[in-house]
Amino acid sequence: MSTLIGDRSDEESPAAPLPRNAEILAMLRCTRCKLSYMPSKSTSTLRLTYCSFLCELGDLGFSMSGLEHMQRAIPEAPAPA
Ligand SMILES: [Zn+2]
Repeated sequence: MSTLIGDRSDEESPAAPLPRNAEILAMLRCTRCKLSYMPSKSTSTLRLTYCSFLCELGDLGFSMSGLEHMQRAIPEAPAPA
Protein backbone atom coordinates (compact mmCIF):
# COMPACT_ATOMS: atom_id res chain seq x y z
CA MET A 1 0.00 0.00 0.00
CA SER A 2 1.52 3.26 1.05
CA THR A 3 5.18 3.51 1.61
CA LEU A 4 5.85 5.67 4.58
CA ILE A 5 8.65 8.03 3.94
CA GLY A 6 10.26 9.49 7.02
CA ASP A 7 9.33 13.11 6.66
CA ARG A 8 5.84 14.39 6.59
CA SER A 9 5.48 16.39 3.44
CA ASP A 10 3.33 19.43 3.74
CA GLU A 11 1.16 18.56 0.83
CA GLU A 12 3.98 19.13 -1.50
CA SER A 13 2.54 18.66 -4.88
CA PRO A 14 4.59 16.97 -7.53
CA ALA A 15 3.87 19.89 -9.81
CA ALA A 16 6.81 21.46 -11.46
CA PRO A 17 8.54 23.99 -9.27
CA LEU A 18 7.90 27.18 -11.13
CA PRO A 19 10.09 30.18 -10.66
CA ARG A 20 8.21 32.01 -8.00
CA ASN A 21 8.68 35.52 -9.24
CA ALA A 22 7.48 34.87 -12.73
CA GLU A 23 4.33 33.27 -11.48
CA ILE A 24 3.52 35.92 -8.96
CA LEU A 25 4.14 38.71 -11.39
CA ALA A 26 1.66 37.20 -13.74
CA MET A 27 -0.90 36.82 -11.04
CA LEU A 28 -2.88 39.26 -9.04
CA ARG A 29 -4.32 38.96 -5.62
CA CYS A 30 -8.03 39.26 -5.31
CA THR A 31 -9.02 42.21 -3.20
CA ARG A 32 -11.81 40.26 -1.61
CA CYS A 33 -10.73 36.68 -1.11
CA LYS A 34 -6.98 37.36 -1.16
CA LEU A 35 -6.37 34.53 -3.53
CA SER A 36 -3.92 34.79 -6.34
CA TYR A 37 -5.49 34.50 -9.70
CA MET A 38 -4.83 35.03 -13.35
CA PRO A 39 -6.41 38.27 -14.44
CA SER A 40 -7.02 36.85 -17.86
CA LYS A 41 -9.18 34.17 -16.30
CA SER A 42 -11.13 36.43 -14.05
CA THR A 43 -14.83 36.57 -14.73
CA SER A 44 -15.07 39.89 -13.02
CA THR A 45 -15.47 43.05 -15.00
CA LEU A 46 -12.85 44.49 -12.71
CA ARG A 47 -10.51 41.67 -13.46
CA LEU A 48 -7.52 43.52 -12.11
CA THR A 49 -9.21 43.72 -8.75
CA TYR A 50 -11.28 40.61 -8.29
CA CYS A 51 -10.72 37.02 -9.20
CA SER A 52 -14.29 36.46 -10.24
CA PHE A 53 -17.56 38.24 -10.58
CA LEU A 54 -18.67 36.60 -7.37
CA CYS A 55 -16.01 38.46 -5.46
CA GLU A 56 -16.84 41.61 -7.31
CA LEU A 57 -20.44 41.10 -6.47
CA GLY A 58 -19.70 40.24 -2.87
CA ASP A 59 -17.42 43.16 -2.30
CA LEU A 60 -19.29 45.87 -4.11
CA GLY A 61 -22.74 44.55 -3.56
CA PHE A 62 -23.24 44.64 -7.28
CA SER A 63 -21.32 43.78 -10.39
CA MET A 64 -20.14 46.26 -12.92
CA SER A 65 -21.62 44.28 -15.74
CA GLY A 66 -24.83 44.13 -13.79
CA LEU A 67 -24.81 47.89 -13.58
CA GLU A 68 -24.98 48.18 -17.30
CA HIS A 69 -28.29 46.45 -17.28
CA MET A 70 -29.46 47.84 -14.04
CA GLN A 71 -32.89 49.26 -13.89
CA ARG A 72 -34.89 50.68 -11.11
CA ALA A 73 -36.86 48.09 -9.32
CA ILE A 74 -40.27 48.52 -10.77
CA PRO A 75 -43.18 46.47 -9.55
CA GLU A 76 -43.85 43.82 -12.12
CA ALA A 77 -47.50 44.38 -12.74
CA PRO A 78 -48.83 47.87 -12.31
CA ALA A 79 -51.92 47.64 -10.23
CA PRO A 80 -54.98 48.34 -12.33
CA ALA A 81 -56.69 51.48 -11.17
ZN1 LIG B 1 -11.75 36.57 -5.10
